[in-house]
Amino acid sequence: MSKIRLLSDHLANQIAAGEVVERPASVVKELLENSLDAGATRVSVQVEGSGTRLVRVVDNGEGMDGDDVLLSIERHATSKLFENSRLDAIATLGFRGEALPSIGSVSRLILLSRPADRETGTRAEMRYGRLHGVHEAGCAQGTIVEVRNLFGNVPARKKFLKTARTELFHIEEAIRNQSLAHVHTAFSLEVEGRSVLDLPARKTLKERFCDTFRCRDYWLQVESGDPGEDGTRLHGFLQQPEPSAARGNRLRILVNGRPVQDRMIRHAVVEGLHSFLMKGQAPGGVLLLEIPPDQVDVNVHPAKQEIRFRHSQEVHRFIAGAVNESVRRYQDSVRSDVFAVPDRSTGPETIRQPVRPPAPRSEKSAGPSLFSPSRSASSWEEVSCRGMQTAERIPAVGSDQPGHSPRPLPADPDEPAEDLTGLTLVGQLFNLYLLCEKGDQLVVVDQHAAHERVIYEELRRDYRQRNIPRQHLMFPVSVELSSGQAAIAESRSNDLALLGFQVEHFGDATWVVKSVPALVSHVDTAELLHETLEGLRSAPAGDARGVIAGGIDSLLASMACKAAVKAGNRLAPEEILQLLAGMRGTGFFSHCPHGRPVIKTFARREIEQWFKRG
Ligand code: ADP
Ligand code: MG
Repeated sequence: MSKIRLLSDHLANQIAAGEVVERPASVVKELLENSLDAGATRVSVQVEGSGTRLVRVVDNGEGMDGDDVLLSIERHATSKLFENSRLDAIATLGFRGEALPSIGSVSRLILLSRPADRETGTRAEMRYGRLHGVHEAGCAQGTIVEVRNLFGNVPARKKFLKTARTELFHIEEAIRNQSLAHVHTAFSLEVEGRSVLDLPARKTLKERFCDTFRCRDYWLQVESGDPGEDGTRLHGFLQQPEPSAARGNRLRILVNGRPVQDRMIRHAVVEGLHSFLMKGQAPGGVLLLEIPPDQVDVNVHPAKQEIRFRHSQEVHRFIAGAVNESVRRYQDSVRSDVFAVPDRSTGPETIRQPVRPPAPRSEKSAGPSLFSPSRSASSWEEVSCRGMQTAERIPAVGSDQPGHSPRPLPADPDEPAEDLTGLTLVGQLFNLYLLCEKGDQLVVVDQHAAHERVIYEELRRDYRQRNIPRQHLMFPVSVELSSGQAAIAESRSNDLALLGFQVEHFGDATWVVKSVPALVSHVDTAELLHETLEGLRSAPAGDARGVIAGGIDSLLASMACKAAVKAGNRLAPEEILQLLAGMRGTGFFSHCPHGRPVIKTFARREIEQWFKRG
């Protein structure tokens, strides 16, 4: 007798169940997929006992007749392929006819279904893999699948389940994911008879996004533009990044309509959002990737949750590029909202008004330069400031000069350099926030974050052009370096020069700094050099293509942070206007290089509601 034997269907189903049915949420996912494949416009899910006691999915799809009900629980039975279908179609669509029999092998499965053209429906019951009875039964058009006592015959599997909360979370996730792929279908979830999710049928992905993420609007619309030659396209909506994005509000990715988990895509999105995410922040939202089916393999994972791309590097580049381009468009829209500069067709270069410390200083202790941290309060009296005549300023809490109460002055609408096209400065709050009025909006700017972004963008641009302006120090500064730092100063002298430093060895541990990057020249020289050398230690050597390596980038960001006006610095109106002009001329300004928001606007309506005027 041969040693090799065929597995019984029963055993094969149980093995398949081990792969397909990992937890109650997998049941929900498979049943939802079937309902949607059947064209349902309404799907409701009921769960008891975190899904192990009962999962019931009710749909109004096309239903099945008696024969099909029986066939559907047969292994490898599917209506979605025909005998002569090509295997690659199976591979791309992932129909295997495995879900129902697998689920039925580890539970009590009851199917009740009726197609539109039949008077009565069919009820079939399967108990742990064995058919337990089929008969006619009355029911509405569509299908009801009940899965009871899941894993009742595989207690070991049941033990691996997590807490009820976790299992319910995954069930909810499965529904949210599908809901984003099928915006025209209504979804609901009841847990122990209590409504948990109720998503009405929608017309647009945006509406569904707002339902699913429980928000009023999106932060960033991602749109890759016209599909390329091969039809690849990315679109979706992202939320404002938040420090602790709620677990349910993570990034959901759909590839050709299928929710998938994909690290590569996630990574590409993070890269595209580069310098808009704070440490520890994760992007949240929904992204739909449409890609020719022959470019992906969905069958890597039995539950089709993971996919493989044929050219994954290209997909990565495409996604990072599309996200980045969307950020750029978003910046332009904020710019035109706040500054009424319609688009960037004039280019940031032509409207750019760099925020630089003005005159070269002869020595470190020279008088305060514009935006130098040592700058003290300046007089509001000296500078005319549009809008000040109506706004009564109250001295800010913690002001440098408590006795100093600024007096509003007449406006000077002819001040061309500071024409911020309709942006009217109201004042500075807590020595940190710049308040401006713009049409029907209150615009609040975080002065440190804004200035940091402006300097950072300038440093990046200059670095990329190999042209960071240097500030020659009239009196060179001696700095002590550790042997490790000295080694970097020697081996990376080119990089130091590119960054605007001119450093020479003087003797022993002493080095002499003759020039520093002009934009940060008011920062303590020794501190600046030490930090730069530490930064270079972890930064790969410069890249000839003008790409700024990650390490250099964070170096530039920390330089910008050091050089920017601090929270608590009292700014003169002309400094504020200069900063706002700098923002307007900067490519990106909505967030600081660490991802903290720079600008927040409040609609007049919103403010009126505070005071019950709305
Ligand atoms: P697959 O979805 O890969 O075809 P399944 O085991 O999930 O395999 O389902 C088997 C078949 O049962 C489907 O191809 C479909 O014809 C039928 N079916 C399952 N669920 C439904 C449903 N809710 N409405 C209509 N037909 C269904
Ligand atoms: Mg299926």
